[in-house]
Amino acid sequence: MKEPYNSQTENQLRNKIAPIMVSACLLGIPCRYDGQHSSCPDLINFLGSIHFIPFCPEQMGGLPTPRSPSDIKGGDGRDILSGSARVINTEGKDVTKAFKNGAHVALNLARLSGSFIAVMKDKSPSCGLQTPYCEKKSGFGIGVAAALFESSGIRIFELGSNDIFPTRSFMELLK
Ligand code: SF4
Repeated sequence: MKEPYNSQTENQLRNKIAPIMVSACLLGIPCRYDGQHSSCPDLINFLGSIHFIPFCPEQMGGLPTPRSPSDIKGGDGRDILSGSARVINTEGKDVTKAFKNGAHVALNLARLSGSFIAVMKDKSPSCGLQTPYCEKKSGFGIGVAAALFESSGIRIFELGSNDIFPTRSFMELLK
């Protein structure tokens, strides 16, 4: 019989899981391109005693903060990984290498810590699962770091700054 979902079950799970990778801007860290953050109060409240690792692939790739915003030209994050698209900032500079390097640094961190889940900021050309800052027919595509995580078997939860964290489905995944 399936164990009922309750706070005791949740606490047991909290104690046994590997750290979760979390987009740093969702935690209130001002690492966005404009020097701001995208704090998500419900996520911060949920994390509580769970071990987590904040990461910002754009900073980890060597880009400064603040920095010019960027778009993926010629595809999305998967196309960046395959080499058929580029990341170009609003000054026209090609920052593909920094985006890819940062994604790989973040993935190494996830592997070192045994993390298999990431909570990532929506709409970002790095972290988003459905970012509009790319060139896909649908108008949306996956970000560079999200594509690398996905291809490495890391389960991604996408979250915006004012979203409610999907606690139940998240905890179900850990069982
Ligand atoms: Fe950094 Fe990702 Fe947040 Fe952008 S969305 S600021 S790359 S953590």
